[in-house]
Amino acid sequence: MKLAGKVAIVTGGASGIGEETARRFAKQGARAVVIADVQDELGREVASKSVYVHCDVTQEDQVKSLVHSTVAAFGQLDVMFSNAGIATGPAQTVLGLDLEAMDRVLAVNVRGTAACVKHAARAMVEGRVRGGSIVCTASVAGSTGGRGMVDYYLSKHAVVGLVRSASVQLGEHGIRVNCVSPYVVATPMALRGFGGEKDAEWVESTVGVNMSLKGVALRAGHVADAVVFLASAESELVTGLDLVVDGGYKGHRR
Ligand code: NAD
Repeated sequence: MKLAGKVAIVTGGASGIGEETARRFAKQGARAVVIADVQDELGREVASKSVYVHCDVTQEDQVKSLVHSTVAAFGQLDVMFSNAGIATGPAQTVLGLDLEAMDRVLAVNVRGTAACVKHAARAMVEGRVRGGSIVCTASVAGSTGGRGMVDYYLSKHAVVGLVRSASVQLGEHGIRVNCVSPYVVATPMALRGFGGEKDAEWVESTVGVNMSLKGVALRAGHVADAVVFLASAESELVTGLDLVVDGGYKGHRR
């Protein structure tokens, strides 16, 4: 029971990595897991034993009220998993960049993450929470370049920068800030990215070619385990870390 008694928020918790992590938080003894998403029906299903709150992370007032309502209902906030994110597609190259599409990605992935970190940190400082942990979902795209999706890559680099700065500034309050960086996991987002016609098995075997670890497919549960570690006291002295969960992917590093 690594999270016994903890109160946690998971943004983007209706699907994929967030859904799996919310379930593991509950299994690890969290007292309350608040799932925040814009997919209300899915979110309510995932939250059958926890709480669902509609929250569009691009809207600061919604993030603020998500955090306030959590503290009002459960007394404090111990863990913020800021995970909501969207991706674009291969057409978003430097030469073909649609800047309005880029703004939408930045609004969720960067502005939304910054709002979650800000309001979670304020609640933890005001509540004098001991052992507060903020975890963000970055990506291997936060430390590599790619042939398309330049806006997604730059958004994830920004998440890593935010985490590093926040970890420096919040350390004096005893708050740890880290991120997890998965390689491709066959979630609804990734399946859409492959054109929506391929199944999870195809995606896993295709991306597995780029991983040095063989014989195991990268799944949402692997990422969720890393988030549980970062959220719990097992990582008490870990802050400012970009914990890469990628099976040894080397990508387009420069
Ligand atoms: P997913 O689509 O299954 O889940 C993302 C969730 O975020 C969805 O439930 C969606 O409704 C929610 N969301 C989107 N916009 C939102 C908003 N404005 N406000 C609140 N919620 C919103 O995808 P996933 O793969 O589980 O993605 C989770 C995170 O993991 C994202 O940040 C993504 O960039 C990151 N990531 C994914 C992969 C991958 O291959 N799947 C790899 C690296 C990083």
